Amino acid sequence: MNLSESQIQSIVTSVMTTIKAQESKSGCHGVFEDMNVAIEEAKKSQKIVARMSIDQREKIISRIREKIKENAETLARMGVEETGMGNVGDKILKHVLVAEKTPGTEDIKTLAWSGDRGLTLVEMGPFGVIGAITPCTNPSETVLCNTMGMLAGGNTVVFNPHPQAIKTSQFAINICNEASLECGGPDNVAVTVFKPTLDTSAIMMKHKDIPLLVATGGPGVVTAVLSSGKRGIGAGAGNPPALVDETADIRKAAADIVNGCTFDNNLPCIAEKEVVAVDSICDDLMKYMIEENGCYLASKEVQEKLIATVITEKGALNRKCVGRDAKTLLKMVGVDAPEGTRCIIFEGPKEHKLITTELMMPILGVVRVKDFEEGVATAVWLEHGNRHSAHIHSKNVDRITEYARALDTAILVKNGPSYAALGFGGEGFPTFTIASRTGEGLTSAATFTKRRRCTMSDSLCIR
Ligand code: NAD
Repeated sequence: MNLSESQIQSIVTSVMTTIKAQESKSGCHGVFEDMNVAIEEAKKSQKIVARMSIDQREKIISRIREKIKENAETLARMGVEETGMGNVGDKILKHVLVAEKTPGTEDIKTLAWSGDRGLTLVEMGPFGVIGAITPCTNPSETVLCNTMGMLAGGNTVVFNPHPQAIKTSQFAINICNEASLECGGPDNVAVTVFKPTLDTSAIMMKHKDIPLLVATGGPGVVTAVLSSGKRGIGAGAGNPPALVDETADIRKAAADIVNGCTFDNNLPCIAEKEVVAVDSICDDLMKYMIEENGCYLASKEVQEKLIATVITEKGALNRKCVGRDAKTLLKMVGVDAPEGTRCIIFEGPKEHKLITTELMMPILGVVRVKDFEEGVATAVWLEHGNRHSAHIHSKNVDRITEYARALDTAILVKNGPSYAALGFGGEGFPTFTIASRTGEGLTSAATFTKRRRCTMSDSLCIR
């Protein structure tokens, strides 16, 4: 059969249209043009999830775990490329951590009382469709960890991700939906919109079908969620100090602090943001940081240049500096630092701008204090009342206790790098939503459930 030029053209156009349609559908499970439609779809899928057996929910979560591991490098690369923040190696580790240690349905426990007057249970039930706002600092880590926990609790979730991390967040959302579909579950267990904005966020926050909002980010978003009139979980900003006293293993403290501070270029909100060191060990600590841990000692001149570069005139962070590595930051201020430079350090007063500001980049100011008592007061002041995270290096248990009480934070790591609190080189589970402000602490599946009491009067007690 001989086809004319125009017939061939028409066939080619038709095939290309079909391919394009398939392309735009694949890789976009859970992504909608309109926020109201996204919420509607999440509502439909929640009805299915709520009727699933716990075993079936767990199968989907296990499949999400596998898919995160399969895609850990892709997710890490996408995150770094899209946001310009962090580093691929550490982001891979963060994704593997999420895959392996995020709690699933086992986190949902039933409380029971039985006695002469019968049996009473407190069961943890789903809220329904949860609205979640996520940051650009750990974009896919937060989406994946939130979805696993929320799904374990029987919920589905609508995300309004950070506009600087849309593609990465959508890729993570797609992974969760593919996992659900592959296990016989519904599509749209996690949803979002193609273009999340403050307007789509406002629609989500006001929507009648969203009973619970979860905000992970800075003070603005947490305040917005807590002002919504709905139940809100607020995982806000921190500025974690690491206090080192004269009883600590100073060499180990130096290594732990630099390891914690430089992990993913200091993006985690729990990471060491400044050091408070007792006078008698301060010089040794800084010496170990410089000689054994790749720290660059910034002169007063370099400090001034860094202030002018990383903080804007209005006092906000220069986004181009957030999550950059130390060598890149130094290059921005005209310093060609040697290979292996991991962190920029300097000694300064507690009021120093690079010390009071939550920088989220490997710049670590050291504040010298005369003794432990002054150290505690300084650390409390530097934490700004966020009650988020604080760290201490000391072998004196009484002092550790005093510090923990004074700081009153959701996380306190003793004698280790900050990431030990996320179950990375420490016991316990990870999360990237640490509800410092509203008090839930490290969130997990149980956080995303509501308690329901069910009482059987005068029977079912077999004691
Ligand atoms: P960010 O506050 O700029 O943005 C976070 C999210 O909130 C984004 O999706 C953003 O679009 C949205 N948002 C901001 N203001 C809003 C408003 N008024 N109404 C509705 N949505 C709003 O934060 P970021 O730069 O993406 O992340 C870094 C900050 O988040 C740091 O302060 C860090 O400490 C904090 N953080 C906290 C946790 C935690 O678990 N506590 C975890 C990660 C990050």
